[in-house]
Amino acid sequence: MTKFIFVTGGVVSSLGKGITTAAIAVLLEKRGLRVSIQKLDPYINVDPGTMSPFEHGEVYVTEDGAETDLDLGHYERFSHAPINRYSNATTGGIYSEVIRKERRGDYLGKTVQVIPHITDQIQEAIRQGAQRGTDVAVVEIGGTAGDIESLPFLEAIRQFALKLGKGNVCFVHLTLLPYLSASGEMKTKPTQQSVGKLREIGIQPDILVCRCERPMTEEMRRKISLFCNVAPCDVIQEVDVATTIYEVPLDLKREGLDDALVAHLGLERTQAAPMDDWEDLRRRFAEPEGEVEIAVVGKYIQLHDAYKSIYEALAHGGAAHRRRVRVRKIAAEEVCDRDPAELLAGVDGVLVPGGFGERGLEGKIRAVQWAREQGLPFFGICFGMQAMVIEFARNVAGLEGAHTSEVDPGCAAPVIDLMREQRQVEDKGATMRLGAYPCRILDGTRAAAIYGRDMVLERHRHRWEFNNDYKRPLEDAGLTCSGVYEARGLVEIVELSDRPFFLGVQYHPEYKSKPLEPHPLFAAFVGAAIECRAAAAAPPTSKA
Ligand code: GLN
Repeated sequence: MTKFIFVTGGVVSSLGKGITTAAIAVLLEKRGLRVSIQKLDPYINVDPGTMSPFEHGEVYVTEDGAETDLDLGHYERFSHAPINRYSNATTGGIYSEVIRKERRGDYLGKTVQVIPHITDQIQEAIRQGAQRGTDVAVVEIGGTAGDIESLPFLEAIRQFALKLGKGNVCFVHLTLLPYLSASGEMKTKPTQQSVGKLREIGIQPDILVCRCERPMTEEMRRKISLFCNVAPCDVIQEVDVATTIYEVPLDLKREGLDDALVAHLGLERTQAAPMDDWEDLRRRFAEPEGEVEIAVVGKYIQLHDAYKSIYEALAHGGAAHRRRVRVRKIAAEEVCDRDPAELLAGVDGVLVPGGFGERGLEGKIRAVQWAREQGLPFFGICFGMQAMVIEFARNVAGLEGAHTSEVDPGCAAPVIDLMREQRQVEDKGATMRLGAYPCRILDGTRAAAIYGRDMVLERHRHRWEFNNDYKRPLEDAGLTCSGVYEARGLVEIVELSDRPFFLGVQYHPEYKSKPLEPHPLFAAFVGAAIECRAAAAAPPTSKA
């Protein structure tokens, strides 16, 4: 029988609930348990696919093509839990399902209400999220205790726990111990109040994870224990990490979180395997042998979360080479009206991530051109790959009016264009090319050398595609189309094969990079940037 851990949050948002949830999964997997992870989001969008990255951060795409919350990215990066469309449920999705059933007549004669119909549907989603064969399902509830929107979710998990009975469910509540510099002390009152909010609903947390800037004292632990009705050994501190979020599983283990969890779930007999791999990872981040600087030229750089998986994948690529990756975030729009050299000088590589719409596109194209002319490594992802194709078409192949029809539908040379089936699409939600598609890699190319295999599965999220009408002229001018989705003849990878790394991919490799298994393209890109930096630093060799 599957046991459940529910992770709620209190006091404020942005406490790193997703990372804590992911770390819990790591610790349980180390005990040999099969774990699943799920996020329940209280917002009314059916999925975050239609939200602005400025507002909600990146949209994370699962292998089976669901557009989900970025916390699922943490889950996949940290753990081996199977992540798919059932791993994220929202108020919008829950209500649509209940309304669909109501229209079908499933509740004939009944008044359809939040309790029991919505709360039942939430419990159904929780059961679906706990994948088959799971020993422990970890379920993160989005939002903060006390939010109006979270209420039905909290009520649903309370009912769920009652049905499963004691010993099968554990409630973990993540809170904040704010430090007041004026008085030089940490305060427990917000934690007490947020636990009070949960208890009003009928949930008594079993474990408290307290985020704090500095370690708490034993006296504070006793006070929190007393006021919150939680045993002192179940009051766990999570002090801000020194260098990387990948320290969190190690820190929480040191604080005894996994012992506390298995004790509550009656799983004490499981043996904890050593955390050597995570220790090694921590050292790679904490003691790098040097650094390298990568420019990320994008539209949404003001918000770190908007390119979360990209920044993480770059860090993984750096860790693979024991280098710290410094990211220079550059607003694509700025590159439109300033000399790229002013903004980009000194970087060791340029990455243009995915994006939508006109704003900043010309800046991205200029950044590609600058990287090409300077001989710097370049990595284009999705819209970034499309920018690379446009730049090459205009400036190398001499195709006048080369553009994407996303921005200029009437352009003379739509090197990036909509496929026929996308032209009929009217709804915006969940209608892009989404999820994993197989890509065949051409022998003898850079892509083949980097991947070391001829077939890969990578995840997509876009409408526009490389236009095969221009394949010949672009290839004649020196662009290599090194990866294709054969079933549809779609170009997935383009590269300048004579460069160490000048490559664009139509898909999003960042979704599949993990700290312990860096994505080969990110590792190779950072590797090329390291080489480039070394070459720039080397004294010029005197020619005989
Ligand atoms: N706007 C482009 C498209 O829809 C690229 C999307 C992306 O970068 N994710 O094809």
